[in-house]
Amino acid sequence: MVRVVGAAPAPPCRFCGAPLRDVFADLGMSPVANDNVPLERASAMEPFFPLCVLVCGSCFLVQLAPYETPKPIFRDDYAYFSSYSSSWLQHSRRYTEQMIERLGLGPSSQVIELASNDGYLLQYFHEAGVPVLGIEPTANTAQVAIDKGIPTRVDFWGVQTAREVAAETQADLLLGNNVLAHVPDINDFVAGMKLALKPGGVITMEFPHLLKLIELNQWDTIYHEHYSYLSFGTVGRVFAAHGLRLFDVEELATHGGSLRIYACHDEASFEESAAASDLRERERAAGLEDVQTYLDYGRRVVADKRQILRFLVELKDAGNSIAGYGAPAKGNTLLNYCGVGRDFIDFTCDANPHKQRHLLPGTHIPILAPEAIAERRPDVVLLLPWNIKEELMDQLAGIREWGGRFAARAPELRLF
Ligand SMILES: [Zn+2]
Repeated sequence: MVRVVGAAPAPPCRFCGAPLRDVFADLGMSPVANDNVPLERASAMEPFFPLCVLVCGSCFLVQLAPYETPKPIFRDDYAYFSSYSSSWLQHSRRYTEQMIERLGLGPSSQVIELASNDGYLLQYFHEAGVPVLGIEPTANTAQVAIDKGIPTRVDFWGVQTAREVAAETQADLLLGNNVLAHVPDINDFVAGMKLALKPGGVITMEFPHLLKLIELNQWDTIYHEHYSYLSFGTVGRVFAAHGLRLFDVEELATHGGSLRIYACHDEASFEESAAASDLRERERAAGLEDVQTYLDYGRRVVADKRQILRFLVELKDAGNSIAGYGAPAKGNTLLNYCGVGRDFIDFTCDANPHKQRHLLPGTHIPILAPEAIAERRPDVVLLLPWNIKEELMDQLAGIREWGGRFAARAPELRLF
């Protein structure tokens, strides 16, 4: 799909500045994903923004097309608390154990986490006696961390914050999970990491892997706060432009398939691992260094929308009631792009009390407490956060009592 925008000039690539002319996926107009609507605002006007992803033909950075933002997306009432997901907590605990051993971290080390949220991860380093510092832009999540005894600075990360932090301390381990893809100015973010890293320090970052998005058709992971869709190759180019070098990588199952990259200063002595060179080669073999691969993807997205609608129409025609479970960003992308509202889905549930008594943006599907499933006994429960569907199927196993069934994308939407 080639971009058709009339006379509008092509916007510049967020990394290399080349004009962006090629469309990866165009999901039309969509409300901002985590902008759940309080019940008393149900009759108010709601803002919708273009949700279109472009690919740079020069550096292959897959990125959101610019859109007008009338207010900052990360507000003080931003409702995402990492500690509400038990599988994410386990993942974080294993990571801290692994890093303490691999890097030999102890009482004289410094760990810095970017986008440290409510201290969900740093708490494990803190318990092990390793000094930590969190950087978190949303005040209410940062306050939860501070209350747990995790030193946290309320700030966005970039060169300016990095200079101030580096005047006090530099990191032996500088980490950021699910933040690199969420920053609008990726150059400023990575340049800041260079400043805050000790000469022999290590950076680790986790982000959803673009190769998995394409292979497993995960277009619903596209939303307005998710600016970049990252491959190992492109992240390597971005880091190299700032004097940093990727030397190792792990492939993780989180978020449908993520990478954990390891980076160091250019001149540091870490040797490149076989996993790193192998992945670079596999991405090339999969066509990620060829713009045509990206252009072909848009057609699959459109076909998938038709399949999802066929599936839901058949369930409804057979007389089934359908409830959702979860209120994640990917659910909003799916429901809004497909035009699925209360005509298909009666309600959804979320364990996060900050999301309850709200409506999903755009579709206005009500968000209830998880107890609503047992009270209302829906025939089908559509698991919107498909990345944790096994965990949710265990939690909700009780629906089998009344013959309830689960539906989830895997990668096609189907029954379980
Ligand atoms: Zn570029």
